[in-house]
Amino acid sequence: MKIDGLHIKDTFNKELPADPIEQGTERKVTGACFSFIDPTVPANPSLIHASEEVAQLIGLDPKVLGSEEFLQVFSGASILDGTRPYAMCYGGHQFGNWAGQLGDGRAINLAEVEHENKSWALQLKGAGKTPYSRNADGLAVLRSSIREHLCSEAMHHLGVPTSRSLSLMLTGNKVMRDVMYDGNPAMEQGAVVCRVAESFIRFGSFEILLSNQDVDTLKKLADFTLKHHFPELPLTPQGYGAMFKEVCRRSLEMVIHWQRVGFVHGVMNTDNMSILGHTIDYGPYGWLEGYDLTWTPNTTDSQHRRYRYGKQPEMVFWNLHKLANALYPLVNDAKPFEEALEEYGNDYLVKYKTMKLEKLGITGEEEGDNELIVELEKVLQGSETDMTLFYRGLADYQVGQKLDEDNAFFSTMLEAFYEPSECTGALLLKWRNWFELYDARLVKEDSSDQERKARMNKVNPKYVLRNYMAQLAIDEAEKGDYSVVEELYELLKSPYNEQENKSKWYAKRPEWARNKVGCSMLSCSS
Ligand code: AMP
Ligand code: MG
Repeated sequence: MKIDGLHIKDTFNKELPADPIEQGTERKVTGACFSFIDPTVPANPSLIHASEEVAQLIGLDPKVLGSEEFLQVFSGASILDGTRPYAMCYGGHQFGNWAGQLGDGRAINLAEVEHENKSWALQLKGAGKTPYSRNADGLAVLRSSIREHLCSEAMHHLGVPTSRSLSLMLTGNKVMRDVMYDGNPAMEQGAVVCRVAESFIRFGSFEILLSNQDVDTLKKLADFTLKHHFPELPLTPQGYGAMFKEVCRRSLEMVIHWQRVGFVHGVMNTDNMSILGHTIDYGPYGWLEGYDLTWTPNTTDSQHRRYRYGKQPEMVFWNLHKLANALYPLVNDAKPFEEALEEYGNDYLVKYKTMKLEKLGITGEEEGDNELIVELEKVLQGSETDMTLFYRGLADYQVGQKLDEDNAFFSTMLEAFYEPSECTGALLLKWRNWFELYDARLVKEDSSDQERKARMNKVNPKYVLRNYMAQLAIDEAEKGDYSVVEELYELLKSPYNEQENKSKWYAKRPEWARNKVGCSMLSCSS
């Protein structure tokens, strides 16, 4: 099959060692970075939604999105001429423990394409079994696929480095899942998403080779990564060290963005960490509603909360250590790794602070800024306070308002509190103190209220993909109505803009969603 506009330029499956067994079933794969495997042909594919923007990014005319060829190729029914689909081999540390070989158990790379001097890997998720399926079915369900499709695009428009999503399709197959792992399996609709990224190489892609003591293939993969994704760096031990440093820098940038917008990944295992510092593998992720450093959406992690919101930067750091171990045999010197990790720690402090100040509309740096940030963290957690509404509402603050006698400004802020009645007495006093600090600090800024508001509204989104919003889209989609998927996709294209007639999406999570599966509790079942 051919699709006009796609310029195939495969490199990963041409330049790196392949598993000699083709179209094989589950097994341990050694000496290879991937296995050739074709997608399973779906029973009756149909398109739910496709992104015109991502289509254009990879060179496709949006008109192609409705074509039979598009449906065939991006559902996995037909293979593009001149391509050889494959599943990538990787391992990973899951929840702190080495889990051995994982690999693409249900993701199949179709091809790499080139457009406007950029290369993109196209990958179907939910396209059937691979050698890495480990007794699972290789499939994905509609709910998790909607969540991945919408969130990838929402994150991109929020300015967070991320994989993109080209298309969301039903396969026409039924898939059995036990959503809460409580012995209640049910049939669900199967779906497939086409994810797009410059590369899907993960920290775990290197770790598996170290674990197999396969330094030869490790070097090949590192050289491939340098050549295609860090072309400014040499293929030398210095180059590998410099690459690690750059991965540290990019991963830090990514996680600072997560903290800024209130995104909680949920499963930050090393197999889910992109070597390019992009957000990948959208599973049981969630968005902070009440500002709570201890929150995680992932019920599988509810006991230890390893991947809770407030821990994410530290978990990236932990993962980077594992990557450093994997790359070490190529450098045989710990120094560049130690230096890069130390730099991560130092840069984190600086960048986190800058990000927090930007959210408050503060550009410079003054003594006392740390106190302003720390006190806000405390008081925000004094009662359940919606992160998105709080920061967006704060942009309307005018210097001199403080918390005046009639609390005129604060009464508008009450919208951000889940129990406004709690915001009295000692807590109100704390807020009053914080606003005193804030006001005094803003006086030192050389800009008007209007200018500050404009700045703040560029870093504090008005619309994010709240968990219950995705669930509403899913509930309708499961009944065959994709209008909410479409509406949220459009809404989240402009998350920082005021949008007419969209105020219902700028609101706290409704109470019915507080303890509902899919809204506050998500499992890895997908
Ligand atoms: P995840 O937690 O989604 O990142 O997945 C961890 C590993 O399990 C990866 O190797 C996935 O490809 C694999 N996996 C997850 N779900 C399935 C499935 N339904 N079939 C096969 N492999 C899966
Ligand atoms: Mg994964």
